[in-house]
Amino acid sequence: MINVLVCGASGRMGSEVVKTVHLSEDMQVIAVVDPSVSLSDGFHYGSLEDALSHLKPDVMVDFTRPDTVKKNIELALAAGVNCVIGTTGLSAADLDELEAQIPQGVCLFVAPNFAIGAVLLMKFSQMAAEYLPHVEIIELHHDRKLDAPSGTALRTAELISETRASIPQSPGKETEIEGLEGARGGSYRDITIHSVRLPGLVAHEEVIFGGQGQSLTIRHDSLDRSSFMPGVEIAIKKVVEHEGLIVGLEHFID
Ligand code: NAD
Repeated sequence: MINVLVCGASGRMGSEVVKTVHLSEDMQVIAVVDPSVSLSDGFHYGSLEDALSHLKPDVMVDFTRPDTVKKNIELALAAGVNCVIGTTGLSAADLDELEAQIPQGVCLFVAPNFAIGAVLLMKFSQMAAEYLPHVEIIELHHDRKLDAPSGTALRTAELISETRASIPQSPGKETEIEGLEGARGGSYRDITIHSVRLPGLVAHEEVIFGGQGQSLTIRHDSLDRSSFMPGVEIAIKKVVEHEGLIVGLEHFID
């Protein structure tokens, strides 16, 4: 039985994780952490520090905020607890810093996206980038998302840039006039990313490749948060069998 602590348990994702773990036969929630908890009672805690001073879970799952996740990971690693991190916003420099703090035998697993379909979108995008190096990404999320662009868009751009042989040149790039600041999106690893935020959306991404006389669009839609749960369940089971830093659910699925 894997003992799980859920950080951000009152949030949209955290509450789904609590339900998912509760329904699984191989794991159980031994504590939930969220600042919205007013009284600690041995199961509900208002801070991770308080929870870890009372119990030692096998795995901490974190779906909190970009500005709190790093501190939570540091606390968990210092206590020798494996981490499954869904919170986005950690930079490459943050991950380097955290990697240095992982004790022997402990695993820090970070997934920008736990939906299997999004993992496939990234894989297919890598395949397409070998043949069609001109690409732009549009990511679309609900209007309460704190960070932009999404972690999935950044990860997709990283994977594409590792795959394509060269950075393609667009003839219009040099002379392009951006009449409205931001109209052409942001650039990461020489790939343009556009972020859309609207009520009603959950998490969506479109990767558009352009070639001579053709375009290819690869799109994934998370229609509700249950789409992330099979991936979270896989990660909790696998993280206890690994050690060190692992980024991306593709490492845990065949
Ligand atoms: P949310 O705002 O609904 O929930 C966040 C919760 O964290 C809140 O209940 C808040 O009170 C709590 N919290 C804040 N600080 C905390 C702390 N220090 N310790 C414990 N809990 C704390 O947000 P959400 O929609 O559930 O998203 C959470 C994160 O997950 C975001 O970064 C989002 O981008 C990310 N996300 C990742 C995936 C993925 O597949 N990796 C999918 C969806 C969302």
